[in-house]
Amino acid sequence: MIATEPTSSSEIKSSSEMESSNGNKPAATDGFHLVVDALKLNGIDTIYGVAGIPITDLARLAQAEGIRFIGFRHEQSAGNAAAIAGYLTQKPGICLTVSAPGFLNGLVAVANATTNGFPMIQISGSSDREIVDLQQGDYEELDQMNAAKPYTKAAFRVNKPEDIGVGIARAIRAAVSGRPGGVYLDLPAEVLGAALDANVGVDSLVRVVDPAPRQIPAPESIERALDLVASAERPLIILGKGAAYSQADSDIRSFIEKTGIPYLPMSMAKGLLPDNHPQSAAAARSLVLAEADVIMLIGARLNWLLAHGKAPRWSPTTRFVQVDISPTEMDSNRPIAAPVIADIGSAMSAFLSMLKPGQIQPQTAWIKTIAERKQHNIERMAVRLNANPSPMNFSSALRAVRDFLADKPDIYVVNEGANTLDFGRDIIDMQQPRKRLDSGTWGVMGIGMGYAIGAAVTSGKPVVAIEGDSAFGFSGMEIETICRYSLPIVTVIFNNGGIYRGDDVNRSGGADPSPTILMRSARYDKLIEAFGGTGYHVTDPQGLTKALAEAVASGKPAVVNCVIDPTAGTESGHLQTLNPTSQIGSGRK
Ligand code: ADP
Ligand code: MG
Repeated sequence: MIATEPTSSSEIKSSSEMESSNGNKPAATDGFHLVVDALKLNGIDTIYGVAGIPITDLARLAQAEGIRFIGFRHEQSAGNAAAIAGYLTQKPGICLTVSAPGFLNGLVAVANATTNGFPMIQISGSSDREIVDLQQGDYEELDQMNAAKPYTKAAFRVNKPEDIGVGIARAIRAAVSGRPGGVYLDLPAEVLGAALDANVGVDSLVRVVDPAPRQIPAPESIERALDLVASAERPLIILGKGAAYSQADSDIRSFIEKTGIPYLPMSMAKGLLPDNHPQSAAAARSLVLAEADVIMLIGARLNWLLAHGKAPRWSPTTRFVQVDISPTEMDSNRPIAAPVIADIGSAMSAFLSMLKPGQIQPQTAWIKTIAERKQHNIERMAVRLNANPSPMNFSSALRAVRDFLADKPDIYVVNEGANTLDFGRDIIDMQQPRKRLDSGTWGVMGIGMGYAIGAAVTSGKPVVAIEGDSAFGFSGMEIETICRYSLPIVTVIFNNGGIYRGDDVNRSGGADPSPTILMRSARYDKLIEAFGGTGYHVTDPQGLTKALAEAVASGKPAVVNCVIDPTAGTESGHLQTLNPTSQIGSGRK
C-alpha cells in the first residue's frame, strides 16, 4: 500500500546518504537517486520498463536499492503490466520508458489505462529541453509532455532535481484519486543527471498522505437511490470493473444478497460474486437488460459495452441509480434518476446501514421469469459445449479450459481476441474477484502478455492467458520476458489461422493471403522452446486438458498451441454491427 503516515525528513534513509563516504559532511545526491528515494518513500516496490537512454542508470539504481525491475521487450507491454498491477493493488503501477519512440510505445498503454480507469504512471526520460523547444534536432527529440496530455489523466514535467519529490507526489495523487487513470511524468536527462546537496534532496521528498481519500456519499443520495430501487417491480444491479477495483467485495455481496436483486457482472466484474451464484442473471442478459424497470449501476459505465443503455436492447422507460466516484459520468448516455457520487466502499456501507428491514422486496414473478430464461439458455449452451466436433472449435476447447479451472479459483485468467474473448467471457466461470483481466473498455488487442506478467509479478499466483492467435501476436515477444523471470504463466493460443477465422480468401485470386489470414501451421509451441520454456501442441480437448494440467502443475512458463477449426468463429466476434461492410461487392463472402 501507499504510505499514509506523515513523516519527517530525518526518517528517510536516502540511497545517496548510504553512499556517503564521509559521515559528517553531507554527500551530494542527484536526480537518479531522488527518483528512487521518492518512489521507495511512497511504497513503490516494482517498476516495469525497458532500459535505454537516458534511464538505464535509473533502472539499475532502482534495482540496487531494492525495487524490483521487470524488463520487457516492448514498452507497450511494460505499460500494460504496470496498468494491471495498478488495477489489482490500488497502487499506481510504474512504467519506465526511454525518450521519444520508447515513450510513444508506452503511451498506448497509458491511454488504455486512462480509458479503463487503472492507476498507472509512465515515467519517461526525455531529451534536452532547450534543443527540443527550438526544434534543433536533438537525439530522439519530442515534446513528450504535450504529446502525453490528451491521452492521460494528468501530465507533469520536472525541470529541476529539487522538484522530483513534488512531481512524483503529484503523479501518485493524480493516478489513484477519484477515477483512477494513466499519468505521465517527464524527466529530462539533465534533471536525472543533475547533482544536488543530499540534505536539500532529502528535504524535497514528499510522502503522500491518503492519496485516494474516501468519498462519502451524501445521505440523501443514498435515501433517494434506495427509494427508487424499492419502488421497482423488476430491479437489476449491474456490477462493473469499478466495483471490482474498489475491493468492497463483502459489502457488495451482502447488499446483493440482503436485497435479493438479480445482478449482471460486466466482464472484469465476474467473480465479485461467484458466477454460479443463484442471483446472477448473466445467462439471461438480454432479457434483464430489456425488461428491468430500475437498474442500479455500480462502478459500470453506460458505454458501448452496454449499448449506451439505448433501445432496442434496453427499455426506454428504465430508470437508473448510478454509483460512481466520478460526478461527470452521470447522464452521459441516459438520465440518471438517482446519482450516488462516492467511492464504492463508502457507498455500499451507507446502503447497508440505511437499508430498512423489508424495504426492498424483489418481485417473485421477476425472479421466476429470469430463472426460466436462465434455464433455457443454459440448456441451449450445454448442447454447444458438450458437442465434440473434430477439429475442435471455440466451445469444445473452452469447455476443457473451464473444467480445468473449475477447482482452481486462485488462477488469474487473462483473455483477449475476438471470438476467443467473446466465447471465453461466456464460458469460463470466475469464482473470485479481480481474477479475470481482459480487453476491457476499448476491446483492445495487445494486453495479453503485459497483463499476464503484471498479474503474476503482483500476486505470485499462476496465470492462464487465453489468447486468439492474432491477439497473441501483438505482445508475443514477451514470452522471452516470461521465461527470463520464470513466471508461472501458461499461454494458450487458440490457433484458427486468422483474424476472426482462418478460411478467408484473396478476392483477386492472387497468391497473397487474405488480410485476415495468419499461418495456421504456425508452431507457437516452438517459440517458447527457444527461451527454455515448455511448448505443447494440441488438437483435441483431451490434449488441451492434459497440457494445462501439466503446465500449471510445473509452475513454469509454457505455451499451448491449441489448434482449432479454421472455420470456427465469426467476423468481428460479437461486434458485427460495428464493422461496416462494403456495398460494392468486395465485402465478406
Ligand atoms: P465496466 O467496463 O466493467 O462496465 P467501466 O470501466 O465502464 O466498467 O466503469 C467503471 C466505473 O467505475 C468508472 O465510471 C469509474 O469512475 C468508476 N470507479 C472506479 N473506481 C471507483 C471507486 N473506487 N469507487 C467508485 N467508482 C469507481
Ligand atoms: Mg484467430
